Amino acid sequence: MVVEAYDLLMGDTTLDFVKGEHVVIYGGGETGCEAAEFVAATGATVTLVSRSRADQLARSAEAVYRINLIGRLNHHARITVLERHHVTAVGEGMVEVSGESRAPYSIAASRLLLAQGRDSDDDLLAPLLRAGIACHVIGDSRKGGRIGDAVRDGYEAMRAIVARYGTVQPALC
Ligand SMILES: Cc1cc2nc3c(=O)[nH]c(=O)nc-3n(C[C@H](O)[C@H](O)[C@H](O)COP(=O)(O)OP(=O)(O)OC[C@H]3O[C@@H](n4cnc5c(N)ncnc54)[C@H](O)[C@@H]3O)c2cc1C
Repeated sequence: MVVEAYDLLMGDTTLDFVKGEHVVIYGGGETGCEAAEFVAATGATVTLVSRSRADQLARSAEAVYRINLIGRLNHHARITVLERHHVTAVGEGMVEVSGESRAPYSIAASRLLLAQGRDSDDDLLAPLLRAGIACHVIGDSRKGGRIGDAVRDGYEAMRAIVARYGTVQPALC
């Protein structure tokens, strides 16, 4: 019933949605908005629950892309945005939500996709350093960001390596 939206978008989880099925997505960031569009394209009906106002959807997305994304969401016949709402409970076939000025109420749904953000994780760093392997933590592993941030981190790491060792023989694994 409950699946990470990120896993769905990345292809790590495969779900078969059927036409008319109702899916609730919790989180109005870029992942939640893209998941809403992805799921609605299968023929399912989507309720996108956002804790923020509707004009704050996908607020970290690149500006031009964001305008088009929000425009598509707002005009999509199978996507409803519930702004300033929280998911408060989930049970078989239902998701309970509450709004700022509404008591909790239930929505019939076959699935709840969570899009509440992801944390950086550099747990591998300490064991690698203990094993004597020099490491640079870059990209989302250092701090969740954009592709450009990851590329810049990688560039800076390579500069630091070259500055230290002169030349490098990178081994990608
Ligand atoms: C829904 C969504 C939409 C986005 N859209 C945009 C966008 O339009 N523009 C933009 O600039 N950014 C976007 N981003 C952000 C962007 O995807 C990331 O910032 C970027 O991919 C980070 O690059 P990275 O190399 O650090 O991590 P990743 O691209 O996540 O690459 C990490 C790689 O490491 C692999 N890996 C993980 N653990 C292990 C392990 N233990 N052993 C071996 N391999 C492992 C993973 O499989 C993956 O291939 C988006 C993010 C999301 C979630």
